[in-house]
Amino acid sequence: MDHEIDHHGTQRTFSRRDLLDQLEIHIRNLKQSDAWVAYLRAQSRFHHYSPRNVMLIAMQRPDATNVAGFTTWKELGRSVIRGERGINILAPVLKRTSPDDNEALTGFRWVSVFDIAQTHGRPLPSPVVLLHGESPGAIEAELEHVVASFGFSLHYERLPFGVNGECRWQSRLIVIEPQNPGLQRVKTIVHELAHALLHEHQVLRDVAEIEAEAVAFLVLAALGFDSSPYSAGYLATWLGDDQEISEAISRSCLEIQHASDAILGALRRFSSHPLDEESCTQTSELAHSSTLTGSNMGRKGILASPISGRTQST
Ligand SMILES: [Zn+2]
Repeated sequence: MDHEIDHHGTQRTFSRRDLLDQLEIHIRNLKQSDAWVAYLRAQSRFHHYSPRNVMLIAMQRPDATNVAGFTTWKELGRSVIRGERGINILAPVLKRTSPDDNEALTGFRWVSVFDIAQTHGRPLPSPVVLLHGESPGAIEAELEHVVASFGFSLHYERLPFGVNGECRWQSRLIVIEPQNPGLQRVKTIVHELAHALLHEHQVLRDVAEIEAEAVAFLVLAALGFDSSPYSAGYLATWLGDDQEISEAISRSCLEIQHASDAILGALRRFSSHPLDEESCTQTSELAHSSTLTGSNMGRKGILASPISGRTQST
């Protein structure tokens, strides 16, 4: 964190650096909350499946997000909907050959697991709060022109449980869940547009999600909205256990600047909504604070995978 406020003697509340510093405080507070502990406890119940089982799940149910066995769902307060067909995966069979021995692998057997969309009951604990309220004026319609100016089309369709949006590079589509509140839809459009601009070839899912959400947070701030109730929780789920948001943003500062500048530039052309110019123009400050500008060093990524205990997409 730098101390530009002191040097300048004036409080520049809405500079990008300041906004991201505020976000960091939100994330820190969240990580000390009961909601975060409940989220971690629930997530610890989900297996990390082997690559082979991830493939088996993806083949049988490509839109799966949270997958667990019948009993685990029961323990999490949810039950499998009658008539749902299980997803078959291979579970190891372990046997003790003598009373003193450790268990040894003796083979595999087929077991059934179920995606969260095949269950109902108590919602899973989540640190992410959907943004409520409508988006004022014509912002959502204007964003359609912004999206089109980058060669994509905005499209609304029902998405799998818990998924708010998707970027489909092959068909150049940004797909949005229509039943979310207006402000959430606007934030998701910007998040997916950031993916469209930055991540066609990015396989590090955590890096991609952090960049896209940081862009969405900054663009929403320039439009006069605070997306931190959603963004802080979302970023926290994609940050490494001991990783600070400031580190992650410093490593991605060029990408975050590039996408937020491009989207705000297009908004100036297509939108009549006033933009907070202060939070649009402080581009040098992000780079200034970066220690690893433009470098991939130290990135601790995970490969893109359809199966994860985390929120699928925004
Ligand atoms: Zn995303």
